[in-house]
Amino acid sequence: MTNELKDAVRERCRKMEIPLVGVANVERWEHPPFRPWMPEEFFPQSIFSGARSVIVIGLPIHLPVLETSPSIYYHELYRTVNTLLDQYTYRLASFLNEQGYPSVFVPRDGYGSIEVLRKNPIAFFSHRHAALLAGLGTFGVNNTILTPEYGPRIRFGSVLTAAPLPPDPMIDHELCTRCMRCVRLCPAGALDREGYPEGLTNRHACAAHSAALNKRHISPCGICIKVCPVGEDREHYGREDASPYEPGEQHGKLCRSWDHVRRYGGA
Ligand code: SF4
Ligand code: SF4
Repeated sequence: MTNELKDAVRERCRKMEIPLVGVANVERWEHPPFRPWMPEEFFPQSIFSGARSVIVIGLPIHLPVLETSPSIYYHELYRTVNTLLDQYTYRLASFLNEQGYPSVFVPRDGYGSIEVLRKNPIAFFSHRHAALLAGLGTFGVNNTILTPEYGPRIRFGSVLTAAPLPPDPMIDHELCTRCMRCVRLCPAGALDREGYPEGLTNRHACAAHSAALNKRHISPCGICIKVCPVGEDREHYGREDASPYEPGEQHGKLCRSWDHVRRYGGA
């Protein structure tokens, strides 16, 4: 029955054009793949007692839009993807409730504003760790989850459910090439060369940079996911060459289109 239920969940995702779906059982939080790990109160079974599985969905950030960041274009895409993730995970939880399995969605962004994030830069649940445990990707030096399909240009949403769904295998090799492009090009100097979990993003520096962009209506920053060479989406969009992202290389038709977008819609 749970295999059939998982197939039904996947089919619903397919109909909603959700390209990435993975399942983790909650025991994976108790036996983490590395340490230090999160405190127990962040585990899905602590947040929603009765949870036995976590379904994680991923929606891509379209690279050509992200390339214009910081811009109103990426700002709006980010908001749209977050809204869709909240709606899709809510609908999946509702479907599972109808099937008799108590389920809840977890909101995409568990903080009230960037100012709140500056004071307390941690959410009550980590979609990144859920995506790792659901087999969708691995951590990169930029502290995000890299996926084979989209690199780090993907946002995740999660459903906590009492359904005992078969878990997906985790990815057993690192996807990050440790090219250090993200570290070098981060405008806030917030990234550490060590990579996760030894090197943690300086969340205060990152949030301060985001807050400054937010005042101009062009947050988030997104540079560390834009410049990452990992992901089949680079080939799809004909963007294997990342040299235009380098300072001093801002020339050509591509860069003129980014400059055009940046001139409008933000302060
Ligand atoms: S979002 Fe921007 S400021 Fe934050 S870590 Fe990434 S590149 Fe640095
Ligand atoms: S830009 Fe390079 S170092 Fe940074 S996450 Fe991507 S592959 Fe890893």
